[in-house]
Amino acid sequence: MATYPTVFRLASRLDEIGFSDIVNIRNKIMALRANGATVYQFEGGEPYMNTPEFIKAAMVRALEENKTRYAPSSGVPELRSAIAEKVREKNRIPAHDSDVIVLNGGMQGLFGAFQSVVNPGEEVLVFSPYWTPIKDLIAHCQGKTILVPIREARANGFEQTLTRYSNERARAIYYNTPQNPTGMVFTADEARAVARFAQDRDLIVVADEAYEDLVYEGDHFSVASIEGMFERTITCFTFSKSYAMTGWRLGYTVASEPWMTGLRKTTLYSSNGVSTPTQWAGLAAFTTESEILETHARAYRQRRDLLWAGLNEIGLTCAKPMGAFYAFPDVSRISNDSRAAAEILLERARVATVPGIVFGAHGEGHLRFSFSTSIETIEAGLDSLRRNL
Ligand code: PMP
Repeated sequence: MATYPTVFRLASRLDEIGFSDIVNIRNKIMALRANGATVYQFEGGEPYMNTPEFIKAAMVRALEENKTRYAPSSGVPELRSAIAEKVREKNRIPAHDSDVIVLNGGMQGLFGAFQSVVNPGEEVLVFSPYWTPIKDLIAHCQGKTILVPIREARANGFEQTLTRYSNERARAIYYNTPQNPTGMVFTADEARAVARFAQDRDLIVVADEAYEDLVYEGDHFSVASIEGMFERTITCFTFSKSYAMTGWRLGYTVASEPWMTGLRKTTLYSSNGVSTPTQWAGLAAFTTESEILETHARAYRQRRDLLWAGLNEIGLTCAKPMGAFYAFPDVSRISNDSRAAAEILLERARVATVPGIVFGAHGEGHLRFSFSTSIETIEAGLDSLRRNL
């Protein structure tokens, strides 16, 4: 009898795409909590504070004014215009309104960016350790991720290191600053070196600036602001971290043609744009006079100082996070296997973290601690580590 492949089979294009390990960690935490344990949570990846009231009020106002119908798929014109002005002034990116698309968070921008650039079999150079979903976004294009160790780039130079890892199949570079998971902030000189390499090799840069407002030392620098780079850079931004709006799913991407056409197509045939009232709330975030960005950055800096000093004192050696809200200490004194180290911290000290291996081979031997939590949690977590490790 002939056998037929089952129809209950996922399309093969999803074969290489995985789910995040972080879900498993959350499940363990929930199990411990269900048994009555206190868990000090450092595994998170989102702002600890609530969305500012004036942004919520703008959403309510939009609803009351019945701004509830379809907006253009690329975004409400007023918001696109405010974004273009913001990126020109703050990021020094020479964008017009037509170079802006409003999207469901940074994630949808990154999805559309890779879909617009990477053909099957092409390679993307990714500084590593790296934010895990990037590999899956590249796999979704049937592209290949090539890891470029950040440590090596910092030691030997960015251009030299990119040269070492790249070949003729290279199509793009993923450039994330401030960086998740290391908390590093790449300098303007490093951006210039990446730009020179991209121009020499004719590569496209996918810039991820999700944490642009969380920089504690130095300044954020957008690679697309460099002469000649706007044309070859797709820059992905989000309201998630700057304005504590992770659940709103609001972001925007800035690029010239032909990339914008790619982003418009991937958006039109997936979400067909962001919910209209959400976009009006986004406009308020940009146009309402407020100190919210400075207030948030100050609060994170205080937490960064506390966690960084505490980890080093305990012997979990850690470079000073310059941006984002992550510390990425070396935990090899506990175990070289970061999954084992995370288990030990959770079992012995009830401290939840993310194993560095989740962020690729170059993250092994490290754990990611988020300092986006209360001062009390940081103090209590450090105290528990001191007593129980
Ligand atoms: N880039 C990086 C480096 C991130 O860490 C995140 C969120 N964790 C994002 C992009 C996307 O965030 P969102 O989709 O919420 O805008």
